[in-house]
Amino acid sequence: MGRRWLYRFEEGAAELLHLLGSKGAGIAELTQIGIPTPPGFVITTDACNAYYAAGRHLPEGLWEQVLEAVRGIEGRLGKRFGDPNRPLLLSVRSGAAVSMPGMMDTVLNLGLNDHVAAGIAHSLDPRFAYDAYRRLLQMFGRIVMKVPGEAFEEVLEAYKRRGPVLRQDTDLEAEELQEICERFKAIIRARAAQPFPQDPYEQLRQAITAVFDSWMGKRAVDYRRIHRIPDTLGTAVTVQAMVFGNLGPDSATGVAFTRNPATGEKRLYGEYLTQAQGEDVVAGIRTPKPLEHLQEEMPEAYAELVRIAERLERHYRDMQDIEFTIERGRLWVLQTRSGKRTGAGAIRIAVDMVQEGLIDRRAAVMRVEPELVAQLLHPTLDEAHRARAREEGRLLARGLPASPGAASGRVVFDPDEAERLSAQGERVILVRPETAPEDFHGMVAARAILTSRGGMTSHAAVVARGMGKPCVVGAEAITVDPTAQEMSAGGVRVRAGEWITVDGSTGEVYLGVLPTRDPELAGEFATFMGWADEFRRMGVRANADTPQDAQRARAFGAEGIGLCRTEHMFFTGDRIYAMREMIVATTPEERRAALARIEPLQRQDFVELFRIMDGFPVVIRTLDPPLHEFLPPDEDALRETAQRIGVSVEVLRGKVAALREANPMMGLRGCRLGILYPEITEMQARAIFEAAAACQAEGVRVEPEVMIPLVSGLNELRQQAEIVRQVAEEVQARTGQRIHYRIGTMVEVPRAALVADRIAEVAEFFSFGTNDLTQFTFGMSRDDAVRFLPRYLDQRILQEDPFQMLDREGVGQLVRMGTERGRLSRPELVVGICGEHGGEPASVKFCHRTGLDYVSCSPYRVPVARLAAAQAVLEESSGG
Ligand code: ADP
Ligand code: MG
Ligand code: MG
Repeated sequence: MGRRWLYRFEEGAAELLHLLGSKGAGIAELTQIGIPTPPGFVITTDACNAYYAAGRHLPEGLWEQVLEAVRGIEGRLGKRFGDPNRPLLLSVRSGAAVSMPGMMDTVLNLGLNDHVAAGIAHSLDPRFAYDAYRRLLQMFGRIVMKVPGEAFEEVLEAYKRRGPVLRQDTDLEAEELQEICERFKAIIRARAAQPFPQDPYEQLRQAITAVFDSWMGKRAVDYRRIHRIPDTLGTAVTVQAMVFGNLGPDSATGVAFTRNPATGEKRLYGEYLTQAQGEDVVAGIRTPKPLEHLQEEMPEAYAELVRIAERLERHYRDMQDIEFTIERGRLWVLQTRSGKRTGAGAIRIAVDMVQEGLIDRRAAVMRVEPELVAQLLHPTLDEAHRARAREEGRLLARGLPASPGAASGRVVFDPDEAERLSAQGERVILVRPETAPEDFHGMVAARAILTSRGGMTSHAAVVARGMGKPCVVGAEAITVDPTAQEMSAGGVRVRAGEWITVDGSTGEVYLGVLPTRDPELAGEFATFMGWADEFRRMGVRANADTPQDAQRARAFGAEGIGLCRTEHMFFTGDRIYAMREMIVATTPEERRAALARIEPLQRQDFVELFRIMDGFPVVIRTLDPPLHEFLPPDEDALRETAQRIGVSVEVLRGKVAALREANPMMGLRGCRLGILYPEITEMQARAIFEAAAACQAEGVRVEPEVMIPLVSGLNELRQQAEIVRQVAEEVQARTGQRIHYRIGTMVEVPRAALVADRIAEVAEFFSFGTNDLTQFTFGMSRDDAVRFLPRYLDQRILQEDPFQMLDREGVGQLVRMGTERGRLSRPELVVGICGEHGGEPASVKFCHRTGLDYVSCSPYRVPVARLAAAQAVLEESSGG
């Protein structure tokens, strides 16, 4: 009998997901658990692949199997395909194994032709007959025969506009609908290669072919590129008997979520339309009604829907998104799947389902995408202030909510200016008509990004989401004029330097500053994170440089600081001048004098961090960046600095010039600074240990971990560790406090991973600095990569951006090797990671599998990392 190309709903099984597609497998399952769904069958993804392999020809035997399966449906329903007296109508639906919403097509009401429509008009209802027929002509014309949809829309619109008031599609009379059918057929005749096929079987054959073709349509191909779905999956085709939501006032079609997908509230949530079919609800033909109305309009059908929703939830143990149709009071389910939900919704649903006994804690923890949790961690606008600002007319415009979170700042139109102002500590918002790769540095510097053009996948939107920055795009009401340095919206002009507030969660842009609120880890969210922690093995720390960051990190559950970058402390206030004085000093004595002015301030910084991290380790990295980063950026700053530190402008200019490096990333930085200027390491160590001793004397439990950056071999570390240890001894002797501390290194140069066994003779801990390690391993600077990386990703030369997701194949090997070799010579070596990858779920899971002790990430990513670390354990124990 040859190959099997299709399965009847009764035969299909959930295990055949890859063959039947998620929609087909789902409908088969509905059938088997006794939920009312019309009969039908699924043509497999294999058949789709065979269709392409044969140069777009239906594979041998498929058509015969289709004919037989259609006869099966006819027998069950006592109807005949193409018979005007007892007509069977069919839908042809698409669906791959992974959901690709809206990417491919569905044709409804197949089997209608002039004859059959007349038969239905006669025996049942003429209005229904011609409404269904015009829908078939419209869908078939557009999808199968490739006539632009507007051609049909225009005719329909013209009919609705007849008469004194604009009518809705439901107001059209049977005669009008019949005329419309004639017009539609004429449009197809005029614009397609062939007339509309009157033979129902020809319609069916062409519709199946069209679904296969839509798999390689531009829309679907683009979607798969973006979501990294392989072309080889293929689409299945579901053929199903029609039920009708357009058969009178007791008929309807709608969508229901078993719980509210935005809030997670346990209550049926959705919309429906009476006298409607298929996509009418989502297409916005008419304004749909909330499901609560159905309870009044059709109480029995509603009660049945509630019952079915509960059953489906119990069966799938997850919130379901259900497509349903009510035909003359009788409810039919046409699709069910796990519903998409927000972060807040996902957590509430997971927690509630555990409490309802539907799932256990493991399942709950596995259920929530770690990335979704990040949504709950952005600052939000205070609702009261939002309302007031609106009343005051300060809502400037509304665009697309491209990247969540809210931020206020001064309007800047130029990326260089954004960078300059932010370096001076200004909060800026970059406003552009749209952004391009060369604006990247300005986007990095900005607190938020606003564009007047572009969609959810524009450059601005993608980059902002990548950086986790609030972003609103496509705010078309705003005219941006970068040359005039102003923008305007609704008659209001905003010039550069004025304050605005951007809310990337709603797409709103306000004039002036609106207060934001830090998110809170409380209620269900806290409960849920507690469950994640029960499973987690790895620790999660935060990268935090300031007391404020440290506090936030603790609030989000960080178990210590994994990276404190001391250089940030040198930029604040007047310290920068002492720093510059230190840099231009010519003798160690001069240098010590300048450092002495920084030391007490630095000590105080550490005191605050230790207090906040009471009982948790704090990794403090000694000075890392190239010195010229501290030097005056322009002539004005140069003059001011010269005056403040008492040298001539010429001398200072000479120093600055002398410090310029050809390649600062690989220049005088990291431990090399401490080796050239041991006074710096000494000062920092003293600040650390004096702060630790003082805190310990107060009763704070301190655990300083001093981290030497950019080490590539044992001797560098040994030399720096010696300095740190001497200072530690001296401070301990002087204060009488014994301090438990560690000395370790950042592994961020490939050589360090290669000789990790040697380095671990001195290092008590390693922290993989995967930002630099990635740059050095690829030989690719992150700042310059914006020029070519997008092309690499586009052409799939790289599958992922290695600065976002740890490159497991390459950089990951260094992490693994470094860990193994390090532990070879020091089994108790503590190993962590502190690059931005520490907050990216796939990278966190990799760290778990590699046996790291902890990950460290930005405070806002801490809950994401906690969840990913828990899932890593559960994935391991489930063998997946
Ligand atoms: P999508 O994948 O875009 O959701 P579907 O195949 O689910 O496309 O179908 C689109 C619409 O057509 C849905 O609203 C669905 O309920 C409706 N539909 C599909 N098949 C039938 C059918 N046999 N009877 C009635 N409505 C149907
Ligand atoms: Mg659907
Ligand atoms: Mg580094």
